[in-house]
Amino acid sequence: MDVQRIVQMWETMPFPEEIKEDEGFAKLREAYVDLLGVYAAHPFAASVPRVPEEEVQAHLRAGTPLLRAIEASVDFSHAESLLPLVAAWEGFSEEVRASLWEVLEKTLPAERLALLAAAWAGEGAAVHEAAERLEVQPKALEAWLFFALYPTRVAVREAWLGKDRVPLEVWGHGSCPFCGALPHLGEFVGDRGERVLRCPSCGAAWEFPRLRCPACGEDDPNHLEVLFFDVDRDRVRVDVCDRCGHYVKGIPALELSDPFELLLLDAFTYPLDVAAEEEGYGRPQAEEGRDR
Ligand SMILES: [Zn+2]
Ligand SMILES: [Zn+2]
Repeated sequence: MDVQRIVQMWETMPFPEEIKEDEGFAKLREAYVDLLGVYAAHPFAASVPRVPEEEVQAHLRAGTPLLRAIEASVDFSHAESLLPLVAAWEGFSEEVRASLWEVLEKTLPAERLALLAAAWAGEGAAVHEAAERLEVQPKALEAWLFFALYPTRVAVREAWLGKDRVPLEVWGHGSCPFCGALPHLGEFVGDRGERVLRCPSCGAAWEFPRLRCPACGEDDPNHLEVLFFDVDRDRVRVDVCDRCGHYVKGIPALELSDPFELLLLDAFTYPLDVAAEEEGYGRPQAEEGRDR
């Protein structure tokens, strides 16, 4: 992960000065840089279940995200070891951090592993029930588990699907080939600016046509619009779909961001989310059952 690369990209993005200098936005960026520091200081260390390549290819051909198709027992020990570090993360409010610390104090490691497993499997009801029992905001608990699980998701995804982008002819769907989540960010790479969608949950990269909505498949140009943040049209943009209200941020990149840089890129382009929401578009949610 190269924090500096994303910071430099951001510096060239055509956001108005008042946004670049906004204090809340600066704090958000700082918090994500800190989070990457946590991940960098605690490299992934756990075993990863292996799946035969032919099995992976068969599921992709059938159009089934791997995580839904493959039963594997995942080692959550690394995620569990990240929980105290993520609980101290300044991206959470002081109140949330205090409540997460209390959860750490009143749970045993086995309970925390069970919570991580529930979040991994997308069992939202179980996580909500736990939040109530542990007296913590459900959203805070979800986010805590999400960030603790992120390096494990990345590692399992890389082991099964590989690190490279998945070619259009191998997958071709709008949702993530590994976990089924919908993307909210794409990178435009190569000479022709091909669109490579990125998964917010596992960092997967897969090719997808520029003129098609990944959420509903709409490809009629009359229903697809682009919100440019600035007159500088070659830079950052938001692709929106009038049929389903989904939007995807688009960022030109010389190279694909690694999964950790991706978290940073997403946070650093937050003004695009604000712009899209002001126009009435919604941040896409992961498909049901695989939500963060
Ligand atoms: Zn994914
Ligand atoms: Zn759509």
